[in-house]
Amino acid sequence: MERTFILLKPDCVQRRLMGEIISRFEAKGLNFVAMKLIRVTPELAKQHYAEHVAKGWYPTLEAFITGGPVVAGVLEGLEAIAVVRNMLGATSGLKAAPGTIRGDFSSSRQMNLVHGSDGPEAAAREIALYFKPEEIIGGTPTITPWIRAADET
Ligand code: ADP
Ligand code: MG
Repeated sequence: MERTFILLKPDCVQRRLMGEIISRFEAKGLNFVAMKLIRVTPELAKQHYAEHVAKGWYPTLEAFITGGPVVAGVLEGLEAIAVVRNMLGATSGLKAAPGTIRGDFSSSRQMNLVHGSDGPEAAAREIALYFKPEEIIGGTPTITPWIRAADET
């Protein structure tokens, strides 16, 4: 079992696509174990996107990500980190394959609707950055036997 961090970015919230995107993760069989509507501050943006802070385009990313409410969430499932990244598609909505979230809903390399952790270290770091341990609600949904076979762990 793996946990990954997602952020429904301000374009997703403003465009009223939250429900559509959350539905995709639910339908896939992933479990939300945490979720909240927040504003990202410039300080939090710099921590979240530490690897990009020095880049020339970082100021536009910070203005975008702090520009409206976002929904932060933690998803749990088998291989959740890779599964979510594959569901998101390539970074630019202009390059992302049809059928992916960015491929279906985004026409931008910046306004690409959803963030997903890119590996186990990023997932652990990002979950801890956005959530206190007590905000994560674990447990096994009763529908689990109809999501995957018992020997798939
Ligand atoms: P990903 O979200 O696919 O991991 P990156 O880590 O490369 O993508 O970039 C982080 C976020 O920064 C992207 O999701 C996108 O919103 C934004 N971004 C990426 N490249 C650019 C760029 N050249 N100009 C502006 N914003 C960008
Ligand atoms: Mg990235």
